Amino acid sequence: MSKRNQLKALRGGLLTQFKIDDPNIKKLFEQLNIKTNKSDEQKEIIRRLRIQNKKQIEQVGLLKERLRTLKEEKIKMLNSYTHIKKLNSSLSEALGSCHECWGENSSCHVCKGKGISGWRKVNRRFFNVYVLSGIEKLNMDEERNNGILPRKINI
Ligand SMILES: [Zn+2]
Repeated sequence: MSKRNQLKALRGGLLTQFKIDDPNIKKLFEQLNIKTNKSDEQKEIIRRLRIQNKKQIEQVGLLKERLRTLKEEKIKMLNSYTHIKKLNSSLSEALGSCHECWGENSSCHVCKGKGISGWRKVNRRFFNVYVLSGIEKLNMDEERNNGILPRKINI
């Protein structure tokens, strides 16, 4: 047997002996296996957390978009509410009615249910803008239907 082959046989024999007989070496191999397993578990946990994180980031993005849409709707509704409130106030001034209930609520804090048209002073400018042209149209229709001249409106 050549020296090289003798050395190779000796090394193989020693390694086999270490693996099989030496409890410290066995323990070391077991610990290495445990560490490898733990490392694999940790990698799996990290992989799952990354997936969860990605899904949550997507959900946050969707919620941000939904919130932006709701804010836009809120602004539109507030603008619409402001417009309707202003129009209601102008019409009640044009007719001299209660702007809260138009005389339909007996417990109204403004008119106690007496605020029908003419309940308070009529605002001429609003009357001319919102009501007069409608009355003129009614008179013209009446004239056409009955052959009567339209009555002049004095306010
Ligand atoms: Zn009222």
